[in-house]
Amino acid sequence: MSNHYDIIFAGAGLSALSIATQMVDHPFFQTKKILLTDRDQKDKNDRTWCFWATNEEVSQLPPVLYKTWKNCHFHSPIHSEQLQIKPYQYHMVRGIDFYNWAKTKLNQHPNVHWEFGNITEMNAQTGTLQLNGKTFQSNWILNSAIAPIQLLPSPLTPTFQNPFTQPNDAPSSQHLSLLQHFKGWVIKSPKPVFNPECVTFMDFRVAQKDNTRFVYVLPFSQTEALVEYTVFSPQLLSEQEYDIELTNYIHQFLQTTDFQILDQEFGVIPMTDFSFPTAQSNYVINIGTSGGFVKGSTGYAFKRTQQRSAAFVKDWAKKGTPNPSSIQSSKKYRIYDSVFLRALSDELVPAHLIFGSFFKNLGGTAVFRFLDENTHFIQDLKALNAVPTLPFIKAAYRQLNRLFYV
Ligand SMILES: Cc1cc2nc3c(=O)[nH]c(=O)nc-3n(C[C@H](O)[C@H](O)[C@H](O)COP(=O)(O)OP(=O)(O)OC[C@H]3O[C@@H](n4cnc5c(N)ncnc54)[C@H](O)[C@@H]3O)c2cc1C
Repeated sequence: MSNHYDIIFAGAGLSALSIATQMVDHPFFQTKKILLTDRDQKDKNDRTWCFWATNEEVSQLPPVLYKTWKNCHFHSPIHSEQLQIKPYQYHMVRGIDFYNWAKTKLNQHPNVHWEFGNITEMNAQTGTLQLNGKTFQSNWILNSAIAPIQLLPSPLTPTFQNPFTQPNDAPSSQHLSLLQHFKGWVIKSPKPVFNPECVTFMDFRVAQKDNTRFVYVLPFSQTEALVEYTVFSPQLLSEQEYDIELTNYIHQFLQTTDFQILDQEFGVIPMTDFSFPTAQSNYVINIGTSGGFVKGSTGYAFKRTQQRSAAFVKDWAKKGTPNPSSIQSSKKYRIYDSVFLRALSDELVPAHLIFGSFFKNLGGTAVFRFLDENTHFIQDLKALNAVPTLPFIKAAYRQLNRLFYV
């Protein structure tokens, strides 16, 4: 069949491009016919990714950093501090820079092909995809286009029939789901109001309104910054509400009334303890958001995606066959995330108290290391001891019957 490929990527966004760009560096994949499919040409700056990383970690990432901040501020109603985050720094990558870098790299390899169009069907039993009226078949479909469960509310979710069935061991009605939704404005002020060396990593001084709300401020210069109003809740706000809250924050905390909006970003990231099936059949491996790459408790995915992609591809090249389970978080961290989501969902403790105590008692570096899932037993104990104990014991108790499934 001419439309047969060794590897097909269903969706060619962050996770697919991260894995594909790793593959072309390995001799093992040079003889493989690879197809990337997406309905989008990835020629717009559709998102910015922020993350913390050490210099050593940065040296392993695609060379597309847009901005780096040495310092981070944290604010809550009861506690504000400049976080000690060494050896980490906070970084930003613009989507368009990553897409251009990945496409340039992939286009140098004649075994890599593209097909742009809407995937209308994916059959996990036959390893086939339908798009542009054609059928594509593969030994391995790496899927980031179609989530195994509905992760986002419609109309953000694709309208076609989801071909996946629920995995037997994870009753969908029991998993916890929140949405992390945010609207950001890149603003320009005529006066210098920002410190370009310092990012505001979570400002909880805004009204919480029965859910979790905070603001990021990511300055590019003394006069320009991305200001992002972020909410963790089951439902989105109206467009007007994000605008009102952004305006209020800029007036009250940045003390600027005279500013221009240069650009804007809106995004929704699922926060869930759903146990993502990494393999859907002998043909389909779920990657990216669909494969559980997004950390359930924070929504961060960029650095994790790079690290998982590198390890997954290296392992595949070594063994000659992919190991889907190698791309999952360990059970321990999935349990921590699940308990955290229970504490938030049941409003057992406000998020500003969790993050406030976490930073105050543990320090920025240790918090980032814990959220990176890079801790040993003693460090875990310190982290668990740093958050409000009673609400977390309650949350863990309420999650007892779920913890087996996460
Ligand atoms: C606006 C925004 C900002 C974010 N910011 C951060 C951040 O600061 N830090 C961080 O760590 N994480 C962030 N995230 C979370 C996470 O890093 C991203 O969502 C990331 O892009 C997920 O990677 P992915 O490969 O799963 O999905 P995507 O990058 O979205 O790729 C999936 C691809 O599938 C394609 N697709 C979907 N359906 C179809 C179809 N039917 N047919 C054809 N193609 C299809 C889409 O066009 C898309 O290109 C952000 C997410 C969003 C939405």
